[in-house]
This record gives sequence, structure tokens and C-alpha cells, in this order.
Amino acid sequence: MENLEKNCRYNKLNNYLKEKFGERTLKICVNGFFTCPNRDGTKSYDGCIFCSEKGSGEHLKEVSIKKQVQEALDYKKNKANKFIVYFQNYSNTYDSISSLKAKYDEALVSDKIVGLSIATRPDCINENICKALKSYTNKYHVSVEIGLQTADEMIGDFINRKYSNLDFINATKLLNKYNIDVIAHIMVGLPYETKDSIDKTINLINSLEIQGIKIHSTYVVKNTKLAKLYEENKYTPISLEYYIKTTSYILTHIKSDIVIHRISGDAPKDILLAPDWNLHKKWIMNGLNKYLEDNNLYQGMYYKD
Ligand code: SF4
Repeated sequence: MENLEKNCRYNKLNNYLKEKFGERTLKICVNGFFTCPNRDGTKSYDGCIFCSEKGSGEHLKEVSIKKQVQEALDYKKNKANKFIVYFQNYSNTYDSISSLKAKYDEALVSDKIVGLSIATRPDCINENICKALKSYTNKYHVSVEIGLQTADEMIGDFINRKYSNLDFINATKLLNKYNIDVIAHIMVGLPYETKDSIDKTINLINSLEIQGIKIHSTYVVKNTKLAKLYEENKYTPISLEYYIKTTSYILTHIKSDIVIHRISGDAPKDILLAPDWNLHKKWIMNGLNKYLEDNNLYQGMYYKD
């Protein structure tokens, strides 16, 4: 009920950051020029079926890491005083430890930076990487965003993610051991999704120590396997109504203290094929808020320990 009393039906990231850092804190998205084992042939050359050529980093710049951060700090200087550097595209722990540290260090160019957030795959987390990340925690808040997408292994295989639920569980437990926050990425609208597959994902998230989640809607972008399926009428994109209902279902069934880092994907306009509603973040946010309000729903209300 605590969320409801604050007139906020789920744990929003902005509120969490404000509480944690005492003021508005924004993210700076960075291209760390990494690759991915699901792209370079180590696991596969094909990548996940929905993944764009730039590993979901279409909007990121191709200039040095330092320059990206400096430009963003400059651009956002009137919007906040505290920032979290977010290594976003591809797998940002997929390199030697020395190279990882060099890239992270390059981004930490200002006293205004209070956090380091790293997106990666569960099979790109190991003890040495955790130790390297841990070394930043006396000065920065460090978190790792790990792809799960679904806990239904059949769908996981179909989308060619090339890691298992066990990889995800092991990575989460390892990060827990080093007290590094874990943010899981999950997707709504993947091929073959059912209520049962969504329940599996919810149950896995609830069974682990996960501090945050990002919920992404599945969208189709050019030059992907999903685009081919869509063009051959073998994949039907979800409707906005379905996305709102399913996201509400997830929110009401996960633990109430999990921070919701995102409830929509940022579809890259120039390569998006479908569904169109993904371009309208306000439709998603307003639609979700209205649905939760109209039905008196709030995060964690159906969670059972
Ligand atoms: S793990 Fe991430 S970067 Fe790699 S192919 Fe899948 S979505 Fe793309």
C-alpha cells in the first residue's frame, strides 16, 4: 500500500535515484565499443533475433568514450548535477579486465558522476569481472544490467539468446556476493509468449535477489531475424493494449521493492518496422498509469512469498 499512498503505483526509477542521491540524477548513455559473444561467433554470428546491427545503440555516438561523457555533461548541465554513466549497447563486460577498466575509467571524467551502470549478458559475468566492478564501489554506485528477456527456455532458444536461465541465476548470485545491484531486462511480446511463459519469468525474478527490472516491449527493426519472420507473416507484433495489460500483470506480481528502471523500449525510428505505437512513449506511460489507476492495481499486490 505504501506505493499507493505516495500516489505512485510502482517503484519508479526517478524516485529511487532522487532518494538515493538526494537530488535529480540522470543517466548518460555511452557506447563503449564492445561486441557480443552472440555476434562475434563465440556463441553465434546471428545475435538475438530482435537485436539491431548496433546492439540497441543506434542513438549512441562513435566518438571516444571520454568525449561522449563530456558532451553529455555539457548538454545536460542545466538539468541535473549528478549523473550515472551507463554503458549501454552490446555486452559491456566482454573484454579483458585491463581493457574493461580502461574503458570504465575513461568515462569517469567528472565529480558529477556518482554511478556506473553496465549492461551485459549473464554469460559475460565471472568472479574477476565482479572484482573489477567491486573496485569502483567505494566511490561510485555500481549496478549491472543483465539480459534475461524470458525465463521460458523454449522461447530463449527460439530468440537465439544463447544463454540459459542457469547462466542468469549464476550471474545474479555472483553479483549478489559482491553486493552489486542487478537489474534484469525482460521482454513482453516475444514469439510464442503465453501467460505461462510470463509467469515463469516473474517467478524467476522473484526467486532471486534482483534490485531492479527493465521491461521492454518487443519491436521489429530492419535487418533482423524477427523482421524476416514479420515480413513472412510468422510473427505478429503485440498491440499497445496487450502490452499495457501484460506489463500491469508483471508489476502486480513482482516484489514491491524492485525498482522499475523502464517500462518501454526506445525504438529507433529510422529502422523500426512495427509496431508503430512503440514510437509514442507517452501513449505507453499514460496508458499504463491509467490502467493501473482504473483497476486500482499497484506493484507487488499479488506477490506471494
Ligand atoms: S546479447 Fe545483446 S548485444 Fe548480444 S545479440 Fe543479444 S541483444 Fe544483441
